[in-house]
Amino acid sequence: MEIPITEYLEQLVAANREDSGETAQYIPEFAQADPDRLAVAFATPDGRVYCAGDVETEFSIQSISKPFTYALAIIDHGLAHVLEHVDVEPSGDAFNEISLDPETGRPMNPMINAGAIAVHGLLTGADREARDERLLSFYSRLAGRRLEVDEKVHASELSEAHRNTAIAYMLKSLGKLEGDPVDVVHGYTRQCSVNVTVRDLARMAAALSAGGRAPDGTQVIDPGVNRHVLSVMATCGMYDSSGEWLTRVGIPAKSGVSGGLLGVLPGQGGIAAFSPRLDAHGNSVRGIRIFERMNQHMGLHLMDAI
Ligand code: GLU
Repeated sequence: MEIPITEYLEQLVAANREDSGETAQYIPEFAQADPDRLAVAFATPDGRVYCAGDVETEFSIQSISKPFTYALAIIDHGLAHVLEHVDVEPSGDAFNEISLDPETGRPMNPMINAGAIAVHGLLTGADREARDERLLSFYSRLAGRRLEVDEKVHASELSEAHRNTAIAYMLKSLGKLEGDPVDVVHGYTRQCSVNVTVRDLARMAAALSAGGRAPDGTQVIDPGVNRHVLSVMATCGMYDSSGEWLTRVGIPAKSGVSGGLLGVLPGQGGIAAFSPRLDAHGNSVRGIRIFERMNQHMGLHLMDAI
């Protein structure tokens, strides 16, 4: 029997309330986040959104920003130049590991911090503020509404950014970082601190599902760039459980430490979930479960199309 999409999503939320894991603890904003929040959204390629649960709750985008910044850097410079600074190989390491190719010094991929910091350094803009604004308006076009930075989260992120700053200096010493390390980490932590809801994330995922077309129909990301970004998400998007995710759920995805999770169904739409408790890899426990349930119900796995 077919049921309306919103009703299906409400049933998903109601049936997957049970939770485990811990919220991220490295800044007070995460340690104090309400761990019971749960939301899910589905957006069609033309921007229609269906959602259930805590759909108005805003949270910082965190690592889910990485594929979008990567897309903008490729738009700015072309793929060849970006590939000189960051590789596309899964690292199998944690997000904040200093995973660099021993021969070239390139970070292994743009979905871990080292790669994302190198990518942020590539963004075009006259100064720090101009780059920040370009990036924010790029995310906003994909989300279909003006997004804003959570200044408190950004201040906390910056005050704890010792490891990311060390990574930026390391990249600079290896010739893989353009710009000033302190400036780049300032911008990178700002990109992580952009507030979103599941509705925003589902729309951003739907834009990727539509070959880079935003909800308003404008082509924001070139289809070739979009395909490249989705490929890297598929192999590297879920921290050090990316292989397990691809075999079990089988779609390009990206997660973040605040509990967001975004998945792309090429040609069909975008899915997003939000639930702050994380597993040992840093992925949302209930977010993963919800995607697995949808996969059981509807067969999301790309290899099933064969
Ligand atoms: N702001 C976080 C960091 O760079 C992002 C972590 C994440 O979502 O993986 O450490």
